[in-house]
Amino acid sequence: MFRRILPLTAILLLALFYVAPIARCMDSRQAEKNREEFEKRSEIPEWPKRDWKNAYKVNSLHYTVVTNTTYNAGKFISDVMEMLFLRYKDIFGAQFARIPRMTVNAYSSRQEYDEIANKYGFQSGVTGGFYTTHGNGAIHIPYVNINGQHPVKTLFHEGTHQFVHDVIDYKVPFQLKSIVPAELHVLPSVPIWLNEGLATYMETADYDGETIEIGKVNPGRLYQLQLMIKRKVMPPLREVLSRRFGQPFSAEHYAVAWGLVYSMRHNWDVDKREQARKKLSQYIDSASKGFFKLPANDFVKKFMTGGKLNDAFMIDWVAHIGDSSLSEFERIVVGRGKKLEDWEAEWKKQILKLSPYKPYGGTNRGEAVENKGSDGF
Ligand SMILES: [Zn+2]
Repeated sequence: MFRRILPLTAILLLALFYVAPIARCMDSRQAEKNREEFEKRSEIPEWPKRDWKNAYKVNSLHYTVVTNTTYNAGKFISDVMEMLFLRYKDIFGAQFARIPRMTVNAYSSRQEYDEIANKYGFQSGVTGGFYTTHGNGAIHIPYVNINGQHPVKTLFHEGTHQFVHDVIDYKVPFQLKSIVPAELHVLPSVPIWLNEGLATYMETADYDGETIEIGKVNPGRLYQLQLMIKRKVMPPLREVLSRRFGQPFSAEHYAVAWGLVYSMRHNWDVDKREQARKKLSQYIDSASKGFFKLPANDFVKKFMTGGKLNDAFMIDWVAHIGDSSLSEFERIVVGRGKKLEDWEAEWKKQILKLSPYKPYGGTNRGEAVENKGSDGF
């Protein structure tokens, strides 16, 4: 506005004194307005009836959100997913080669969602959302409050599974693509403990339309974990780390998985935090290569005979990931020559020091999106 009224020289003189403060003031007012609009978009009212075939489609950089709620709700979902996406790079620590567009389907009612969930074999009323790799892969969620809880928590959980599968899981090397069936070109290689540990870690992300903060403790998981440790009934790490896809993964396993990821992201010893984070990235990197040294050669050696996949390939693959999950954890995280059980005893002691009643467990402040890092206190 000023620029239209004042001559150029006056602007240059004024610039030093006024323009920056005005800009800052406008910035903060604009930021406040953005936040208010964002909050409004996050509300879950009764949605006006709209058929799924007339659903809104909201495209952002990495996501397509399809929803028969409102356009604004779709925009809100894509905004939070993009914010979360920003954090993945730090956590996974890898340079992502190819990121396919990811789809989120948000249904305006529980009934509409249940119909879809039933098709995928889930009983009505049991799941709060799911991610399926079927077809091109997609998240499906009922966009309604469940027990007073905003569905965004489910979005963060399932969104992490979607990212793990689409971006991190083992991609069959191009030399093998013509001899491996297309549906096996992406194979689950991130072990179940890590997949669920990361998802439960991301559930607590806190956002306000501009920034997203991760690293708050998951109070329910921590409380349960501490209780199991105190009562000496925690499933041993050896068992959790080698859990295979298809084996039951109980609430007790979830709590341990969360505790493992949390401790690797927010090591209680501030000086060791970076090192612990690097180990987590290193472990994730190894998982993305199928825990192989030479991803193409080792795959052929282990799973193929005469240029064809072995008959029991899927069973062998799942066993390979379960076994490697444990041995790589011992190599990368525990360290050579050290015993997992000793590491576990120390880890338990530290887990017991966290507080489920303090947002950051009383040991650190998580981290802001600007990458300022964590402040220990
Ligand atoms: Zn999950």
